[in-house]
Amino acid sequence: MHGPLEINENIFSLNKRIAEENRKLLTEKKTFAVNLMGAIGSGKTILIEKLSAMLPFKCGAIAGDVVSDLDANRFKEKKLPCVGINTGKSCHLDAHVVQHALQELPLEKIDVLFIENVGNLICPADFDLGEHLRIVIVSVSEGDDIIAKHPVIFKESHAIIINKVDIAEAVNASAEKMATDAHRLNPNAKVFITSIKTGTGLKEIKKWLEEKIKSWGTIK
Ligand code: MG
Ligand code: ZN
Repeated sequence: MHGPLEINENIFSLNKRIAEENRKLLTEKKTFAVNLMGAIGSGKTILIEKLSAMLPFKCGAIAGDVVSDLDANRFKEKKLPCVGINTGKSCHLDAHVVQHALQELPLEKIDVLFIENVGNLICPADFDLGEHLRIVIVSVSEGDDIIAKHPVIFKESHAIIINKVDIAEAVNASAEKMATDAHRLNPNAKVFITSIKTGTGLKEIKKWLEEKIKSWGTIK
């Protein structure tokens, strides 16, 4: 008999094993993978669209969504090689569904693969997908206590993006307070305050990411 805790343990260790296989494949193909996490409406899709156009690398995407293929179609319109994953009832991507998506992508032609996770701030943090870098994005419209309320995902990310600063006043939120919470939870993470739509802070993200990718050293 398995208790619930033991079953959880098995799910996570299986996920970890497949994630390591994904990372090995991506590294062999010299494809740098970014796991982008954040709530619905935080700006994940537009960030991928903009960075793909700015980075001096060939980009591709995996679009995770519960049921729709709207984001996958947006990426295809931008001529990005893309696979959409519908998770059905599941509110996060896991290494197994990503492993299938990787089989469908022309990885030898992709330098940087953005994996847009399903929109929420809770369980995506628990599932390694085999990525090389994790980024979490929040919108000020989620409330300026959103970071303090979801510590795990912010502790486990390499960069924290606080987006839609252009509407902060209108939604009565302090982007500075959010940045302070982010630094306090994860002093090692790079924190950006942005308005991806208007372009504020976008060059800074691009520069940071470009340096990360180049220092990885394996890029084609
Ligand atoms: Mg999206
Ligand atoms: Zn979930």
